[in-house]
Formats: sequence, structure tokens, C-alpha cells
Amino acid sequence: MTQINDGVLTILGESIKPGESKEVNFDVANLHTSTPVNVPVIVERSKKPGPTVLFTAGIHGDEVNGVEIVRQLIAKGINKPKCGTIICMPVINIFGFINLKREFPDGRDLNRVFPGSPSGSLAGRVAHKLINQVVPHVDLIIDFHTGGSGRFNAPQLRYSKENKELNDLAKVFGAPFVLYSKNLSKSFRTTCYKLGKPLLLFEGGKSFHIDDVVTNSGVNGSKRILKHLGMLKTVFKSSKPKKACVFINESKWQRAKYSGMFKAAVTMGSHVEKDAILGNITDPYGKFNYFVRASHTGYIINVNESPIVYQGDALFHISTKLKK
Ligand SMILES: [Zn+2]
Repeated sequence: MTQINDGVLTILGESIKPGESKEVNFDVANLHTSTPVNVPVIVERSKKPGPTVLFTAGIHGDEVNGVEIVRQLIAKGINKPKCGTIICMPVINIFGFINLKREFPDGRDLNRVFPGSPSGSLAGRVAHKLINQVVPHVDLIIDFHTGGSGRFNAPQLRYSKENKELNDLAKVFGAPFVLYSKNLSKSFRTTCYKLGKPLLLFEGGKSFHIDDVVTNSGVNGSKRILKHLGMLKTVFKSSKPKKACVFINESKWQRAKYSGMFKAAVTMGSHVEKDAILGNITDPYGKFNYFVRASHTGYIINVNESPIVYQGDALFHISTKLKK
């Protein structure tokens, strides 16, 4: 990683010297009430030169657990680096967050409009500003997400395979799983990849939910990365992960054979054998009870926690092929 920040950092129109802290505003548009809306960017700089790390969350306005992870990094002072610079953006899609929605007010998914445009949709303008005014200053990005619509993700890092730098960083981070997944078109991750900026995407938990195991996995992983980069202050303890992380090459969603009421009966992150009972689907009248059995052997990395499912709904995300 390059180390670029031994001088004054000029970001979003503000100049920040080594040793300074500043909250900078990433404002793009007012609310429909013409109320100004702040999108705080919290910048902490050490006097000692070092790398610049960006922590982002809330690209999806319903993914509150990611916001909680970045909030804890700030509230605990973990974002005050021993060397270099730490930039935190806890809620990027503030419009979605205010409206309790995943998307922007016009229904756009911010993570499908990158790299954006200065004259495009509101989401596109936010994407453009992030890519052009924040990302050029940073050496590493950690972006926090959760599963969507009631589907609970075991804490996992995601990136496309064949990347030694990210593999090494992922081992340091120590989430229980790494899932190799293709870069999606027009996502933040893809754009950063094209710009040569390493990005670790963390997925854990589900929308509109805060889970302590997920939060701790995100906070502890961030501390390990900062320690690895020499940026974690000595007051913070950073322990090695209890288990080595499992690298997953391929995975498959197991879908519901029937519509009905659904209850999972499997521990998140556990390893299951083919045909093991994972849960059951029932009808409301006590006449029907179908046991969902594992279609194949693997690790359970996502569980649908919705009490009602339709035939074809994704129930369990199970690993099919591990990295050798
Ligand atoms: Zn997301």
C-alpha cells in the first residue's frame, strides 16, 4: 500500500494537518422539506505519517449493523490512529437511512450507480462525489454491509478471487468466512477495484437489525487490520481470531420447495452434512409439516429469518467448494 499523507490533507474542501481531527460535511442535497442534511465524514490524523484507511457503512440505508460497527470504531476512539489517517463515513445513504429504506428516495440502489455522475440522479451524484473527492485520498477501504430482507449473513468478507493482497488482509481481519464473489457491475467495490484501491467488503447480520456477534466481528477485524498497519493505539487490545477463517470458492442458495411458515433450526456458520435437517415449513392449520434437509454438505453462511416464505424463496446459503 502506498503511504501518501505526510502533508496537509485537503478533502471535501477542508484542509487537515497531521495531528488534527475534523468533521467534514459530505453534503449533496437538502431533504424535500428544504432542511439541510449532514453527512458527517470523521477524519482523524496522527502526527506520524502512515497509510489512510476509509471505513464506510450505510451505502444501503437499511443496513444498520454496518452503521453500528463504524459508530463503535468512533465512539471507542479506535479511529484515532497511532500513525496515518482514518476516515469514517458511518452513513453514506443518509436519505435511505432517514426514510428507513435501502434505496435512495427515487428507488435507486446506490451500489448499482457507481462511478456516478455529477449531473446524474441524486444517488449518482453521491457516488461521483465519494469516488472523486474521498477515495483518491485513501489506501484501503473497509465497507460494511448486512444481508437484505430478513436474510442473516454469518460475518464474512467478500471480494473476487485471485488477489493476494486482499487474501492476506482477510486473514488478518479474521472474519469466520471469506466468500469469493464476482464484482457486481456499477458497485462501489467494482469501481474501487478498477481504480486499484483495495476494498474489503464485510457482510454480517440482516437489515434493520443489530447483532452483537456481527458487530464484534466487524470491530475486532477492523482493530486487527489497524494493528497490522501499525495504526492501532497501544491502549487497544487486539487478539488473534479464535478460528482460522474459511475461504469459500463456491456456494449455492437452497430454495423453498413449498410456500408456508418457516423456521430454521441450524446454527449460523455451522458445518452441515447432506440431508441434515435445517428447518421446517408448515401451514397455518396444523396439517402440513415439511422438513427442509440440506441439499449438500457445507457451511451455512446465510439463513432466511423470515417467518413466511414462498416456494422458490432462498432459505439457506451453503458453501459448495472451499479453497484448497
Ligand atoms: Zn449492502
